[in-house]
Amino acid sequence: MGSLERRLDKLQQKSGYQRTTLVCPECGGEFTAYGDVALEYIVHEYSRVSQSSAESYRETPEDIRRLFDHEHDPGAFVEKSSGLPFLSKAVSGFNIGTAPERSEDGT
Ligand SMILES: [Zn+2]
Repeated sequence: MGSLERRLDKLQQKSGYQRTTLVCPECGGEFTAYGDVALEYIVHEYSRVSQSSAESYRETPEDIRRLFDHEHDPGAFVEKSSGLPFLSKAVSGFNIGTAPERSEDGT
């Protein structure tokens, strides 16, 4: 028993397509997003702020767009299972002490 679950786990890890449940600390609303949420968030935020060609770089998944549509700051969302901010290094694997800068020569 549980072997199917474990196989699904493995499958999801392999494809990198994991499910993340985010909780809004303001109102307790829950959001389910798939994939690398922190990365998607950063990319979307970057394209919003820079208004550069990053927008056309790739389409933001609907899961992520929903986070931004929320009335509260999605950057403060907490990853449900760990209770940590999803943008924290422990959760995302990114060190986001500083916002992504336009250091690339993309424009
Ligand atoms: Zn909220």
